[in-house]
Amino acid sequence: MPDGSCQSLSSPTSQSSVGDPLRDCHPSCFMIDTHCHLHDREFFTAEQAEAMIERAHKNNVKRIICIGTSHEDSLKAAEFAKEHNNVYWTYGIHPEETASVMLYSGPRPSGPSPWADGAIPSLRSRVPRGERAAALRNAPNIASTEAPIAIGEVGLDYHHDGYDREAQIKLFEQMLQLAVDNDLPVSFHVREAFEDFFGVVANFPKVRGVVHSFSDSKKKLKRILETTDFYIGVNGLATYSTLPLPPLERILLETDAPFLTPTPFRGIINEPAYVPCIADWLSKKMDVSLETIEKETTRNAEKLFNFSDTVL
Ligand SMILES: [Zn+2]
Repeated sequence: MPDGSCQSLSSPTSQSSVGDPLRDCHPSCFMIDTHCHLHDREFFTAEQAEAMIERAHKNNVKRIICIGTSHEDSLKAAEFAKEHNNVYWTYGIHPEETASVMLYSGPRPSGPSPWADGAIPSLRSRVPRGERAAALRNAPNIASTEAPIAIGEVGLDYHHDGYDREAQIKLFEQMLQLAVDNDLPVSFHVREAFEDFFGVVANFPKVRGVVHSFSDSKKKLKRILETTDFYIGVNGLATYSTLPLPPLERILLETDAPFLTPTPFRGIINEPAYVPCIADWLSKKMDVSLETIEKETTRNAEKLFNFSDTVL
């Protein structure tokens, strides 16, 4: 991709020759899709997912983080990560899934509470409480097969009528405690709920993370940047909107595939291979070289997620 153009990407719709290196790049200069749902069979067949991983590699996207949105979905992400090198999973219950969880959140141990004998204990058996064991950190690929790399996506979403504010906050707090207990970063989902978000995270000063798919005002962005150390997840949405952008040292690249396909591929299903489109767009928008965008955003992601394996 010598001209930095997105058009030459290997994609189901492009004519570029699959198998050819798309760019002459330093080995360390690869990209990471820090947020996608490739493991979700509601959106992708197993065959599609395989092909997408292959295309991602050809397009220099070498690490892929599959984000869990419910207990069951997180375990599916874990299975998918186990089957693929350099694919990772996160454990999270999306705020829109709050109702399903809170049904079981009665006093412990009565009832089939996932808090008592489901979600949390099974996670804790994977990740020793209070530590991600040094052995896990150092062994090649074990992080992608055994432990979640983060907690997420978790947060607050007041977009749809009928949401239960109290319940969402309670679940969010439990998820943040889980992150603290396991020393894991967090992928935040926040929509139309930043006031409460700031209130909740203020009580968890040890939490580090990324505000995935930020889509709010300049003022809110400024407040995140000034009052927290959180990164901001930038995806295809930025390429066709007028969202405010954080400085490069706070940006993580993500696709949120299958959603939010960046230009020039809008209208077809999103996939990790399109991360370079976002990098390319940022490079032009920020007037910074593509290589710098790649290196900086990859470094940011490596710092936050603390990958322990080598890129294959
Ligand atoms: Zn997502």
